[in-house]
Amino acid sequence: MDNDLEFADEEPRVKYSPDNLELLGLNELDPSRVLLECQEYGQKWSPNFEEGGRLPSLWWKCPNGCNADADTTDIEEDSP
Ligand SMILES: [Zn+2]
Repeated sequence: MDNDLEFADEEPRVKYSPDNLELLGLNELDPSRVLLECQEYGQKWSPNFEEGGRLPSLWWKCPNGCNADADTTDIEEDSP
């Protein structure tokens, strides 16, 4: 894919797992409501669930952009 405008829905979803959280530099503060903390600056956030209670595809992205460039190629994907 070489067109940057075509991304949104084609983005592979990163599975929510302890291993992936570690890979993306995140701490899990509260698993019951998915409260995350960025290991970089301690930014805390909770991703907004999609309709049906599914995590958004970019749930792992720190609001500060610390891990925005993380390479998710080798990260385990959520099964469809
Ligand atoms: Zn951050």
